[in-house]
Amino acid sequence: MQNKHIETIAVQAGWEPKNGEPRVTPIVQSTTFRYTSSKELADLFDLKVAGHFYTRLSNPTVEVVEKKMAALEGGVGAVAYASGQAATTALVMNLCQAGDHFVSTATIYGGTFNLFAHTLRKLGIEVSFVDQNAPEDEIAKAIRPNTKFIFGETLSNPSVKVLDIEKLARLARAADLPLVIDNTFPTPVLCRPFDHGANIVVHSLTKYSDGHASSLGGIIIDKGDYNFANGKFPDLSLPDPTYHGLVYTRDFGALGFIVKARAHILRDTGAQLAPLNAFLINMNLETLPLRMQRHSDNALALAQHLEKHPKVAWINYPGLDSSPEKPLAEKYLKGCSGVFTFGIKGDVKQAAKFMDSLKLAAQVIHVADARTGVLHPASTSHRQLSDEDKKTSGILPELIRVTVGLEHIDDIIADFDQALENV
Ligand SMILES: *Cc1c(COP(=O)(O)O)cnc(C)c1O
Repeated sequence: MQNKHIETIAVQAGWEPKNGEPRVTPIVQSTTFRYTSSKELADLFDLKVAGHFYTRLSNPTVEVVEKKMAALEGGVGAVAYASGQAATTALVMNLCQAGDHFVSTATIYGGTFNLFAHTLRKLGIEVSFVDQNAPEDEIAKAIRPNTKFIFGETLSNPSVKVLDIEKLARLARAADLPLVIDNTFPTPVLCRPFDHGANIVVHSLTKYSDGHASSLGGIIIDKGDYNFANGKFPDLSLPDPTYHGLVYTRDFGALGFIVKARAHILRDTGAQLAPLNAFLINMNLETLPLRMQRHSDNALALAQHLEKHPKVAWINYPGLDSSPEKPLAEKYLKGCSGVFTFGIKGDVKQAAKFMDSLKLAAQVIHVADARTGVLHPASTSHRQLSDEDKKTSGILPELIRVTVGLEHIDDIIADFDQALENV
């Protein structure tokens, strides 16, 4: 499936029914699976053979999403989780323990920022945030002897800054570290970070991958090209006492990282993607290439319209010719997704008036689904960040985040125009 076009992979990958089996992926709503011999079960437990035995470790419906996402990104394997946050937490746990350190760009999703800056710090895992636009030698100074990986977001939520993935990949390679990219907003349709030197990709499937605001989900995908047996990752390259001395890198080769993320981290933390959510996400992935194109086209048209509007102070969408991000967007993205931010002339009150006047577009926390929505991050999604952290993450007080849906563009523009009249 890997050498097929992305549209074909999105529809067909992950589920190849045999004669008489359902054409559509079934929902395997079962925690448990039947075996006839205790030897078979023992071998499954010891990871000597592959197979489903308990849905906390793997499930046939969830496996379809894992295979499809791995094929879409061009990875060797994937593990799905209950949410994007669960996936990112598992990622860090799979690479780090207390006393370790990693480097992250500062322009990332607020939930990830909190996880990195506060929760993981309490567990003894340290992060250094860097400015993703800083020169390479500046960012390199953040790398320490105990650094385990470098992290960045392709298209940041909500500030839609485009990451120079190849710059971070050069730094990671020079320091022999894996580069991890959160590719939630572009999805593999608009960007494939593995083609630019990333080693691992994480997603919140909750956003465009599901795309209909129906299900939470997250996933880790490994390209399979980073050598985890280089001595920096003893948990991957030395015997695991909870599996009778199994060695992930030795026994599973390029799949070692993914096997550990499942058999160790998912087993112990239990943040499994539910089969019904996997079914919905898998079905929605079938239309991902069509949807990403339309989201990007609609957002560009609305952004171009607002840019000319006398009541709009500024607008930030990397697809606009006026955007300083345009060159990076052209290099890395086949479209800039449906999300942008802008500021209305005036203060926070004018922003509220505008948002309250919208009729078609709703005020929602969620981004990246079929329905157009707006949000004021400073008072909602990012309100738990300190003023200092807000500034670091680029959350201005007047900033309005727009998530452009799949409605007809003329109807979306008409709604924004009538709301701006009221300001
Ligand atoms: C939403 C989001 C997350 C967290 O995902 P959940 O599924 O909400 O837990 C992580 N990264 C990015 C870029 C996001 O937009």
